[in-house]
Amino acid sequence: MIYKHRHQPSELPILGSLHTRMNLSSENKKYYYSLKKGWKGELLFDSFAKELTCDCLILNNLLLSSNNTAFQIDSLIITAETIFIYEVKNFAGDYYYESEKFYNMRGMEILNPLHQLNRTASLLRSMLSKQGFNLPMECKVIFINESFTLYQAPINDTVIYPTQIRKYFHKLNAIPSKSTKRHRLLAEKLLELQLDDFLIKPNMPSYQYVQLQKGISCAKCHSLSVHENGRKCICTICKHEELTESAVVRAAKEFKLLFPNEKMTTGIVHDWCSIVESKRRIKYILYKKFQCRWKDTLALLRMKQYLTNSTPVRLAYIEK
Ligand SMILES: [Zn+2]
Repeated sequence: MIYKHRHQPSELPILGSLHTRMNLSSENKKYYYSLKKGWKGELLFDSFAKELTCDCLILNNLLLSSNNTAFQIDSLIITAETIFIYEVKNFAGDYYYESEKFYNMRGMEILNPLHQLNRTASLLRSMLSKQGFNLPMECKVIFINESFTLYQAPINDTVIYPTQIRKYFHKLNAIPSKSTKRHRLLAEKLLELQLDDFLIKPNMPSYQYVQLQKGISCAKCHSLSVHENGRKCICTICKHEELTESAVVRAAKEFKLLFPNEKMTTGIVHDWCSIVESKRRIKYILYKKFQCRWKDTLALLRMKQYLTNSTPVRLAYIEK
């Protein structure tokens, strides 16, 4: 049973949108790609975990603190006898292992996930022991990407390689397990001790409205090469088609994500989308799909007036 669902890191859609609309620094780009890759890997892990039918509690993306040190757990599974903690790595391609270190094929050392996991386990152990929970713990590094190869790989049952994943979950499923009130108390405690995730967020790039490229990004390939054709928006790169209404709603939500404190008015969304010629159409879509900030009779009246005789009014919208 999933006790804590996984949520997309909040900075990922922001960075994705900025990546489309401005030139990110190489550092920000690197961070965006690694975040995206990590997120995909975690989703892949979830696709295996959700098949588990044994009586267990699954908690995803935990951010905790022990001895004044923050630590993150990709996934934690509580079974009757054991707490399993997982570090999910979405490395793709070839790597090698030498003298307890991981290297890519260019000879660049990468952070040893086993060390990372040992540190996490010891912090968690200490934290749980203070709370009176002393279940045995098992740690696993899961290399989730099927294109991952590790030369000179250590024979270590803490590491699950791509070809072993199915078998591993199959074995986990076969462990007799019956969760009790005590296990649920443990899960509740872990949720209660969650830290706010802004604590670990690196500096996000700064941006202003004027510096961002306007337009509607393609829902499929994310390029801004989208043009309006009748009631549809069509991407010139991948030929993906989307109804203008849904494309404008997406773009408006993207605007709100990047500028949460700005008022979402017809004018600004019209400028932001840039490819939709009719301002009236934008107004109609916003009115239909969002909620007027001033949800009063006057606003409705003004809207009717606007639609009938083009009396200019400025309405701001929020998500329904
Ligand atoms: Zn496209």
